[in-house]
Amino acid sequence: PMGICPLARRPLRDNFTGPLQPWARPEVLTCTSWGAPIIWDGTFDPDVAQQKAVEQNLTIGLTVFAVGRYLEKYLERFLETAERHFMVGQRVVYYVFTERPAAVPHVPLGPGRRLRVERVERERRWQDVSMERMRTLHEALGGRLGREARFVFCMDVDQHFSGAFGPEALAESVAQLHAWHYHWPQWLLPFERDARSAAALAPGEGDFYYHAAVFGGSVAALRGLTAHCARGQRQDRARGLEARWHDESHLNKFFWLHKPAKVLSPEFCWSPDIGRRAEIRRPRLLWAPKEYALVRA
Ligand code: UDP
Ligand code: MN
Repeated sequence: PMGICPLARRPLRDNFTGPLQPWARPEVLTCTSWGAPIIWDGTFDPDVAQQKAVEQNLTIGLTVFAVGRYLEKYLERFLETAERHFMVGQRVVYYVFTERPAAVPHVPLGPGRRLRVERVERERRWQDVSMERMRTLHEALGGRLGREARFVFCMDVDQHFSGAFGPEALAESVAQLHAWHYHWPQWLLPFERDARSAAALAPGEGDFYYHAAVFGGSVAALRGLTAHCARGQRQDRARGLEARWHDESHLNKFFWLHKPAKVLSPEFCWSPDIGRRAEIRRPRLLWAPKEYALVRA
């Protein structure tokens, strides 16, 4: 029957969009085995989501790290396109974490939108910059960011918005399907498999492979997520280990243990290198080309 999640056997509704229309996208998976919506273009009503968010008078946080060369290379375009596409019409507070606050570009902000810059230390290895984000976010969520925002999205900076990324994406906890892996068989997914790591998933474990470039949720949920990941990374380091995909491996472990309330289709964070795919209708975020030789030098 229309609109029933076949696995969870209940109508698919969502706090922000109301009833979802999964039948609008019969060619893709629109519901997880635990009954969480996987939102694809056409399955939600952005106007309803907008109205419900406005009624709740939300402030939505968006965190991004721009350390070392990532600042000059990506930050301005990320922020400019966020102004055009991210939660337009809502109250938004950007949190930019960098070791050089003075170098943050002055991007004109719309009404109700603010930008705060927080200083962080620059780690020597890029892997450590990436992983330190969890500890830093945990602290920020326990401080001003956590008091200011009701929901927060945490994103990589090496991407830009290309379509509306609105309140339909909000939920208690939100995970992003990885553009390269969403159609792979489970046994091939690049989870950490070394049982000694805190991020390890045993064979047969793992629902989807989630992308650490986008995750979000309520402040409380993200406090739990960041604490879990930071703790796992600490534990691994003490044992002389580093998970295969760093913070992303720990994020995947967290979402295996604590299922996300909402999953974003790969349309929300797409890699143009993959080329055209019939089911990718309107990408919301596009990865920048990976120029590791330049930015990680
Ligand atoms: N990052 C940064 N400086 C660095 C390394 C990482 O600012 O030297 C931040 C930046 O926001 C970046 C994110 O950490 O987008 C994750 O790193 P990266 O995008 O290189 O990882 P990938 O997406 O390739 O896994
Ligand atoms: Mn990235």
